[in-house]
Parts: sequence; structure tokens; C-alpha cells
Amino acid sequence: MFTPFQNEPYVNFAEPDVRSKMLAALQKVESELGKTYLPVIGGQHIETGQIAVSVNPARREQVIGYVHEATESLAESAVQAGREAFRSWSRVPVDVRARYLVKVAALLRRRIYEFSAWMVLESSKSWLEAYADTAEAVDFLEFYAREAVRICRPHPTTDYSGEENEVMYLPMGVGVSISPWNFPLAIMAGMAVSAVVVGNTVIMKPAEQTPVIAAKFMELLEEASLPPGVVNFLPGRGEIIGEYLTGHTQIPFVSFTGSRDVGLHIYQRTSTPQPGQRWLKRAILEMGGKDATVVDEGVDLDAVAEGVVAGAFGFQGQKCSACSRLIAHTAIYDALLEKVVERAKALTLGNPASPDNVSMGAVIDEEAYQKIRSYIEIGRSEGRVVLDGSGADASEGWFLAPTIVADVAPSARIAQEEIFGPVLAVIRADDFDHALAIANDTDYGLTGALYSNNRAHLERARHEYMVGNLYLNRKCTGALVDVQPFGGFKMSGTDSKAGGRDYLHHFLLAKSVSERW
Ligand code: NAD
Repeated sequence: MFTPFQNEPYVNFAEPDVRSKMLAALQKVESELGKTYLPVIGGQHIETGQIAVSVNPARREQVIGYVHEATESLAESAVQAGREAFRSWSRVPVDVRARYLVKVAALLRRRIYEFSAWMVLESSKSWLEAYADTAEAVDFLEFYAREAVRICRPHPTTDYSGEENEVMYLPMGVGVSISPWNFPLAIMAGMAVSAVVVGNTVIMKPAEQTPVIAAKFMELLEEASLPPGVVNFLPGRGEIIGEYLTGHTQIPFVSFTGSRDVGLHIYQRTSTPQPGQRWLKRAILEMGGKDATVVDEGVDLDAVAEGVVAGAFGFQGQKCSACSRLIAHTAIYDALLEKVVERAKALTLGNPASPDNVSMGAVIDEEAYQKIRSYIEIGRSEGRVVLDGSGADASEGWFLAPTIVADVAPSARIAQEEIFGPVLAVIRADDFDHALAIANDTDYGLTGALYSNNRAHLERARHEYMVGNLYLNRKCTGALVDVQPFGGFKMSGTDSKAGGRDYLHHFLLAKSVSERW
């Protein structure tokens, strides 16, 4: 019924036409700053009086918007609104549910520059990073719509004489999706609509740092006439409303993307049945990373340096997939380090809302800024700081330039702990075996890259490099929907593979029905 899925193409901001569309979008969004946004529960917009202010990380005095944060009692209302809406939504034919998503994708595509501009301002993404985030949101909507239609049909079983047998897929009820700020549109939207398109209803809880882009997405859902209560928009504090919802007896699934500590806490919480709870909760948990790029001898070092710098410093290193460890064969270590430093120095830093189309903006907030700086200090005692980004001018925004620490031991803190900022630890390896062992020697297992021309090494990596997303001879960031389904091993999460063909099953119950004639 729909045309085959295709990824939304990127644009080239060097082209004058593209550039002027982005500048016009930024101007439009800047003229709309400072508005107030409300939680939306069962279609009702509700004032709570607990107002949080969202500001531009690159220009702290610039208010993006004011958001009324939800309370526990509003979270309870959201559960009840979701339960009520589930009764009818779960019986809406899947084709119809899918059309809502395709319509939202069309609305978003028409305003792709505008939504990207909101992210430039609220999360300090560069133009390209923001555009890629919006394009990924479009992809999730389009892809999950088609996947729901494919999956939500009776599945064939082996014939058994005298009986009719089928396996059907049923939605579970009202769930909660709890998202991070670093892909404030794509991940937030993808987590919510994936659950909804297969017949669940959802409470969409965005990150505290990026509630305005979330509210703009909720406006799109309303514009597409999604029935009230199917998606309930609940901005607010994770430790209050998130905590309340993950322990709620009437929530059968929690879909979470965020840090390891919070993910592990939710894992424990959802696995402990509460009095009156009648099911085992599902927890889909996608968490942090300490991703490595392994570089063998005999490769094109310019291509490697380009991939490493893009992977390490794109969106200021604030990606779960970011390259935070460069593990280089000793034969090419010094030459590669020099090239990586040279390229990192050439990156431009500034307010991404300026017409300059800078490569890097500010880090998300003061807490992140202080945490990253403290890791740079730790780095001074754990290696040789060959590029120090800690002195960037932070008088107006939370700016940090790229930092590169060389000669780091594999067990050092900056080689083991997720920093989530523009800090790269460089580690020397004796040979490929040593490099692979170092790459695997962390708690995490999200993404990893290997540059090599040695077929035997590439093949070993396919089997032995313990990451959910392995990239051979390319950078470790930039997974595309249904091209590289995304999710990590080990302490990086439950390997749910967002944007992949198994994903929607996380939100479904498989029911075997047998009728004897
Ligand atoms: P975070 O864990 O601080 O917050 C994520 C969400 O959890 C937010 O909405 C927050 O309000 C909520 N939360 C906080 N405490 C909670 C509680 N007690 N109960 C329920 N919800 C609670 O993470 P963040 O800083 O927003 O995001 C960055 C992290 O996300 C990094 O670790 C990054 O690696 C990870 N991440 C992972 C993936 C992936 O696919 N694996 C993708 C993006 C980001």
C-alpha cells in the first residue's frame, strides 16, 4: 500500500539555496522563541504552574521556551488517559494507524528546516547534525509504518489436520517512552511512534534539556489528528515522573534511551513486581558507550583521520556512538595522531545559529560542561594532552573545543568511562590482536570501527569485536534507519535494534490461536 521505504536524503549546506532555506528557518524560529508549552494528556493541554526554562546552550541568556512540568498526579492522569485511549486505538486497523505516521512524516518533511532550526537553538547541533536528526525522525515514522503493516498480520504456522492455527500479534497497553536530549527529535519520536503504530498508547517523556522540540513534535501529532490519549506528552523531571511511571503497576513496558546509571536503575525497578502487578514488565533499555576506532597498519591514514574526527567531535562528542577511543597499531600511531590533531584543529566552534555554519556548537548544559572539564583534568594525569579544548571561551555558552589525549593506558579512566563530550583518548597497540583485545576490554559494547586492509582481521572483527554496531573501514557514527539497525551489547543495553526489522516485536504480545473444526 505504501511505496517502498527509502531513507530521507541529506542536503549540502554549501549550496546557496540550501543555505538560504536554513537561514530563513532560523530566522522564523528565532521569532517564535519564548513561548510557553504545556503537557498534553488525553488531548487536554494542562497548566501545572511548575515552569522550567529551556535555554540555548550556546547563548545562555536566550530563552527557547517555557515548559510546564508534570507532577506525579499528572503522570497518573496520563496513565489513565492512555488506558482509556488503548481500548479503541488497539482495535484501529493497522493500515489506518500506519497512515497517521506517514502523514506525520509528510508534515515533518515539509518543515524539515524549521524543525532542524529548533534543534540548532535548543540543543546546539550544527546544521548538518540537526538536519540528520530530523531526517532520522522522518525515517522512523515512514519505516515503522511499513513494518507495522508487515508484522501485524496473522503469521502462518505449519498445517495441522482438522484445525485452523495462527499466530497473531497484540499490543500490550499504555507504555512509557523516556528519551535523552542528544537526539531530541529522532530518538524521542521513534521510541513513541514505534509503540503506538502497533496499537499501544504511550506516555512520551522527553529529556529535561530539550522539551521544546518535543512539544513541537506533539503539535505535529495533533495536526495529523492522532486521537487524544494515544500519545500523552509529559515533560518533567525523570527522577519524579519517570520514577513514578517505571514503578506503576499498570505500565506493561518501559522504553528507555539514556545513561547507563539510569538504565540500570530502571532495569532493577521494572524487574521488581509491585503489589497488584499482573505481568512481567518489558524494559527496552538503550544506554551509553565507550566506542573505539581500531586502526590497523597499511591503511589510508587521511581517510581514517577524517572518520575519527567526524566520529569523535560531531555534535561535540555527545553521541552514544561517538568515537571516544582511538586504538592505533604502533606502526602508524604517530603519523595518524598527527593527522587527527591537524583535522581536529581545523574544526570551527561557535553558536550554530550564526550564519557561519560552524562544525561544533556548545555542550548541552553546565553539568555536562563541568563533567567534561573534570575528565580533561583526569586526562592530564593519564596521558599526554596533545590538543586541549578546555580553554574555549565559555562566557556566553558552554563551549569546549576538541581535546585529544595521547599515550593513554587501556585501563585509564578516560579510556573506560563515558565522558560524552569532545574528548578523544588515543591508545597504542602492539598489533591487531592487542588492539582488538583493548577495544573489547570495556563494560560497554555499542559501536566500534576497524580500518584494515587485512581480510583475516576484518573477518575476525565480524565475530570477535563485541559491539552491536560494527563499522569496517568507515566511521562509527551515523547509523541509518533500516540500513544499520541500532543497539548495543553488554552494558550498552538490551540490543533492541531501533530502526530494524525486529524492533516492533518489543511492543507486541504473540498469541497462538487454535480452532478445531
Ligand atoms: P539520562 O539517563 O540522564 O536521561 C535520559 C532520560 O531518563 C531523561 O528523559 C531523564 O529525565 C530520564 N530519567 C532520569 N532519571 C530517571 C528515573 N529515575 N526514572 C526514569 N527516568 C529517568 O541520559 P541523557 O543525559 O539524557 O542522555 C545521554 C545518555 O544517553 C548517554 O549515556 C548516551 O550514551 C545515551 N544514549 C544512548 C543511546 C543508545 O541508543 N544506546 C542513544 C542516545 C543516547
